[in-house]
Amino acid sequence: MQYEVVIGLEVHVQVRTESKMFCSCPNRFGAEPNTLVCPVCMGYPGVLPVPNGEAIHKAVRAGLMTDCRIATFSKFDRKSYFYPDMPKNYQISQYDLPFCEHGKLSVGPGKGFSGNDMPEKIIGITRIHLEEDVAKLTHHAKASGVDYNRAGVPLLETVSEPDMRSADEAYAYLTKLKEIMQYGEISDCDMEKGQMRCDVNISLRPFGQEKFGTKIELKNLNSFRAVHRAIEFEIVRQAELLDRGVVLHQETRGWNDDAGESYLMRTKEEAHDYRYFPDPDLMPVTFTETEIEAMRQALPELPAARRDRLVREFNLTEYDAEVLTKDKVLADYFETAAGDAPDGKLLANWIQSELLRELSARGIAVAECPVSPEAFAQLMTLIGKNVINGKIGKDVLGFMFEEKKSPSDIIKEKNLAQVTDTGAVEAFVDQAIAANPAQVEQYRAGNPKVLQYLIGQVMKCSRGKANPQLVGELLKKKL
Ligand code: ADP
Ligand code: MG
Ligand code: ZN
Repeated sequence: MQYEVVIGLEVHVQVRTESKMFCSCPNRFGAEPNTLVCPVCMGYPGVLPVPNGEAIHKAVRAGLMTDCRIATFSKFDRKSYFYPDMPKNYQISQYDLPFCEHGKLSVGPGKGFSGNDMPEKIIGITRIHLEEDVAKLTHHAKASGVDYNRAGVPLLETVSEPDMRSADEAYAYLTKLKEIMQYGEISDCDMEKGQMRCDVNISLRPFGQEKFGTKIELKNLNSFRAVHRAIEFEIVRQAELLDRGVVLHQETRGWNDDAGESYLMRTKEEAHDYRYFPDPDLMPVTFTETEIEAMRQALPELPAARRDRLVREFNLTEYDAEVLTKDKVLADYFETAAGDAPDGKLLANWIQSELLRELSARGIAVAECPVSPEAFAQLMTLIGKNVINGKIGKDVLGFMFEEKKSPSDIIKEKNLAQVTDTGAVEAFVDQAIAANPAQVEQYRAGNPKVLQYLIGQVMKCSRGKANPQLVGELLKKKL
């Protein structure tokens, strides 16, 4: 039978703050295990949590950026469970009164991850709430390690409505949500550091049927690609079972990305009863409508608005603006450099092709780029003024990455400035003519195509430094 897939996503992002959610320990990734801890985040009895105002403001900002209704009254609840990643045996979360509800996010139109066309679509956001992350467990052959550095890191959970109908839509929703978290400076969403994690709820129903099918939850996927693959896999797996008349039961599954298949973790019968109740240690959080309005006014520019502005201000194509604004850090880099660079369009081209290539070849994130936007702008100016040509410019950029010097110093040190002196270029032209008598003959016999070849030869003689325009002119004259 033909089935329609129904997908809802639960996405956790670690909020970027100085300190943890309920104590003053640093919120920092990568430290030695259990060095960023205190009695509060280690769950000692009798300690008092103190909420992190910055995390709460960022939660509200996430809600405002996704068109949510912001609660004027909300509270924290205890979610009871017993597991070594949470020694106090409950996680502080939000149950019935989250900070944000009834939001939405639009995805598309455009090409989806699989290459198919995707129309524009609004995906509902059920709620966004704040909770604390738990300790990280690492399982070894005979023992497990517990790292409480992660315990108490503010964690923002965004729950979507079951509105998505394809793996592509889920992928696009995640991309959009990540964009918002980054643009709002809510989370860095570095998936390799576990800052963004995703649970996928998925069910099938026969086309035309109103009632949803039984949902299967896939836990803790850590890349968008894995989400896409897992959904495609589940569609086939569940359809096969339904076709055989198997009655599905709610269950939680994991995803093995190496094997490319999902596996059973637990069934509904083993599901927890979390016994939520209001945390008596924490006061409810209230906002007045005026305060919420002020936060709305202070929202940062959204990616779509920034794309439009870049097209207008710098004469970029939609495509250029799209590539540059995909990553907020890259868009910031572009705008800082554009302040000093002579030509926005040229700059956009260079950032998209050369800068991104150098970065990916070295495995560096834009945020860690050793070439400052100011230095990059200088390079653009030097190319614009014909001090060097584009080809040499690429080499200079390579040296800037390696040697961390200014482009003009590199050009001076390595003697890379363009040769525009007619006498000097003439010498290169003579050299090339002498070395390529056959091609010269062909040109003179009326084959204009070999001119490009000869220009190339002159450039080679000059080791790329001759002004290509001048070379062309002189060659034609001499031939
Ligand atoms: P639970 O109580 O099991 O956590 P929720 O109703 O809170 O379930 O929904 C959790 C997530 O599952 C939400 O993102 C929601 O959109 C999604 N969801 C709910 N029902 C279905 C379904 N039948 N198929 C797919 N996703 C679903
Ligand atoms: Mg749930
Ligand atoms: Zn602490």
